[in-house]
Amino acid sequence: IFDEFSIKTLIRPVPDFPKPGVVFRDITPLFQSPRALRMVADSFIQRYVEADFSHIGALDARGFLIGSIIAYELNKPLILFRKQGKLPADVLSASYCTEYGEAYLEVHADSLCEGDSILMFDDLIATGGTLLAAAQLVRRMGARIHEAAAIIDLPELDGSRKLQDAGIPTFTLTAFA
Ligand code: IMP
Repeated sequence: IFDEFSIKTLIRPVPDFPKPGVVFRDITPLFQSPRALRMVADSFIQRYVEADFSHIGALDARGFLIGSIIAYELNKPLILFRKQGKLPADVLSASYCTEYGEAYLEVHADSLCEGDSILMFDDLIATGGTLLAAAQLVRRMGARIHEAAAIIDLPELDGSRKLQDAGIPTFTLTAFA
């Protein structure tokens, strides 16, 4: 069973990282707890084991950690959405703004086909900018997002609402106000 309280206690608030005024939610303690990591993974697996989607997408870099576990367990192809300059073959690229500035997200141009539906994973939804950029890339390949899943939502930054407004359902295990 999922124990949200124990998950929350393993997410460490780090004030003024990476810049003054930002409280960074650090999930490394959660990954250091096998029991907590299993609880997180099992919650996602339970939600998606019967769901109808074709691919799993994981966002650079902490999204890789959770996305790859779920792709392995659900036996789905895993697509990496990476920061600029990391993917070697032909890429599609989309710009986005995070709370820290502008950046580019890339995906291999041949990774999805028309009609595919992809379940996206990241560790955390803040402004939603990263997932909206991923959604652009997915759409350009003729595919669609089944759902955007993350461990943590920061609802005050409005990202999950923006994603819902853009037609992208979101699912998170816990939230910090
Ligand atoms: P967004 O694009 O503004 O929703 O920001 C989400 C992205 O930034 C995710 O890839 C997160 O890994 C990262 N991020 C932003 N804030 C935090 C935080 O407080 N803790 C961990 N990751 C964060």
